[in-house]
Amino acid sequence: MASANDPASGFPLQSLPYCSFLSSQDGNAHLGVGIGSFLLDLSKLGQVGLLHSLNAETQSACAAPQLNSLMRCGPAAWSTLRQLLIKLLKEDASSKHQSKIEPLLIPTKDLQFFKPIVVGNYTDFYASIHHATNVGRLFRPDQPLLPNYKWLPIGYHGRASSLVIGGGIRRPHGQIRLTGQESPAFGPTKQLDYELEVAAYIGTGNSLGEPIPIAKAAQHIFGLSLLNDWSARDIQSWEYQPLGPFLGKSFATSISPWVVPTEALSAFRVPSSIRPSGDPEPLSYLSNAASEDAGGIDLTLEVFLSTARMRETSLAPVRLSEGNLCNLYWTFPQMIAHHTSNGCNLIEGDVIASGTVSGPHPGSEGCLLEITRRGASPIQLPNGETRAFLEDADEIILNGFCEREGFPRVSLGECRGTVLPAHGAS
Ligand code: MN
Repeated sequence: MASANDPASGFPLQSLPYCSFLSSQDGNAHLGVGIGSFLLDLSKLGQVGLLHSLNAETQSACAAPQLNSLMRCGPAAWSTLRQLLIKLLKEDASSKHQSKIEPLLIPTKDLQFFKPIVVGNYTDFYASIHHATNVGRLFRPDQPLLPNYKWLPIGYHGRASSLVIGGGIRRPHGQIRLTGQESPAFGPTKQLDYELEVAAYIGTGNSLGEPIPIAKAAQHIFGLSLLNDWSARDIQSWEYQPLGPFLGKSFATSISPWVVPTEALSAFRVPSSIRPSGDPEPLSYLSNAASEDAGGIDLTLEVFLSTARMRETSLAPVRLSEGNLCNLYWTFPQMIAHHTSNGCNLIEGDVIASGTVSGPHPGSEGCLLEITRRGASPIQLPNGETRAFLEDADEIILNGFCEREGFPRVSLGECRGTVLPAHGAS
């Protein structure tokens, strides 16, 4: 298929990301696989008999509306299905299957997507040392990084119920205490921010009481998506001590509709260690040669902003930053090993989020809190508008893609969300 080789689509044969979409034929959610600018309906693929080489469990998982059943089948089944899909789609131009596959391909444009996975739990980490340092400096210029940072991946338990795909994000109300005032007031946040993050979906979990060893942690990841951890900074800064983030985060978190399988990213693995010499070696339960040699992913991440006025005048979204996932201090396998080290059980579909991904250079900061230094240095947009934090009707678009000489570009798709006015706002 020509569009599979179009570098702009980012969904080549080597990628084949999964999604859940509204089928116009029966009005139900179906699993789909992205190929070029099209989508292959997985449940229909089974109906025309092209999945018969798979075991019964995997075949029935392909007919489910979301990915959880397939996740439970385990890494060997994920790989077998993927190899079959590559074979079927590779052959489509000339093979005997062409007549069966072609009617199952749907243009991706304008499809309605659902959450690809039923997510039971969402944990947000803080794995970018550049983000931690930049934010820490705003609050503690003398000691930006707290003493535990280089010893353990910091995280907190978020809300899975408010994970959403696309659409509007209602500006939340909360308690806000303005500088110099003794008492807080309750009202809409004036410091609404985004956070550029990557989500790793747990494919197979662990039993309660049985930690996942670092050497096996990577096998538990089904795939990656983009994630925007919307944050109300004024609510957050008043409420977060001593127990951490709460209502300043839990009002909404956006995920992208596509899940890129980990196998599709293998060509883009890079050494993870950005630890300068002199930093402490990770304790043994967080240390593994394979994880360190190839625990990072060379994944470019971008944030775009489109304001209402830009859309009215047909201006393209403006890029706010560009970073890379390889700059994380802690890898996903380390986050998983740490998360389960006390025996806590992860289950299929759980979201492990990286935390805001920021890089070492100006222009690679993954949220407005860092870019505008908590609003002190608003950004100038090309049309003359300025932003310290997000305004109503602002749309944030996250992008992620892997590029490497000799390999087709692999995209994570887009993660979009638009700010809606607070309830009661005129
Ligand atoms: Mn976050």
